[in-house]
Amino acid sequence: MKIDEKSLYINHDLCKACGGKCCLYSGCSYSPRDFKGMSLSSLKERLDSGYASIVAQFDVFEHNISYHLCVRSRGLGRDVVDLFSAKNTCTALKQDGCIFPDEMRPHGGLSLVPKENFQCENHYTDKIAYQEWIPYQKVLERLVRLYTKMGSEEKLREDVIQVAYLLAYQHTGVKGERLFWRTDGFSRAERELFDTLNAIIPSYRKEIELGMTQAKNKLLQK
Ligand code: SF4
Ligand code: SF4
Repeated sequence: MKIDEKSLYINHDLCKACGGKCCLYSGCSYSPRDFKGMSLSSLKERLDSGYASIVAQFDVFEHNISYHLCVRSRGLGRDVVDLFSAKNTCTALKQDGCIFPDEMRPHGGLSLVPKENFQCENHYTDKIAYQEWIPYQKVLERLVRLYTKMGSEEKLREDVIQVAYLLAYQHTGVKGERLFWRTDGFSRAERELFDTLNAIIPSYRKEIELGMTQAKNKLLQK
């Protein structure tokens, strides 16, 4: 779908000079407006291209633990269903920049306003994406089930264990029987993930503790 010209802020020279810091940090968000139709087959076609994933966006904006499924440009090495993982470099970022022509880029990429100091403004925030995808939860849920043979809640719980394990394994030390965090070594994406993990503890305590226990056991074996 062709996007509104008003949301085109592209400045190729500036982005070339920057080297794509935004795309190195994370794939940009798709809007439902980026798709020709919201049928299962239309969404699946884009997901199967290898450049988009279904992700879970928590309602951290209102301090709720609920989440909605959204679509985001896929991170390197990530799966088509990547519900809970650290943001990382977008698969569509190549040596010469984004593989998509300007008008075909996801809304999140087109709505970034490049700035000279590279403190670019994002006009299509995670919060807007979260709200825009609300009417399409059923079709995304069907896709999660199609790809993973699990419901999104089950898959998310599996992902939370894995993320808690990886974060704790890479960023904690063991003192006696306890783990202590070394948060100063976090990347920006890991910090964001750590904050989200903390926010969802009331609903995912068992999974977070399981992941951290697995990390502790592995660290003790060293
Ligand atoms: S939008 Fe900003 S961060 Fe992204 S490539 Fe352009 S200048 Fe860099
Ligand atoms: S799809 Fe293109 S604009 Fe969006 S993050 Fe990936 S490389 Fe950047």
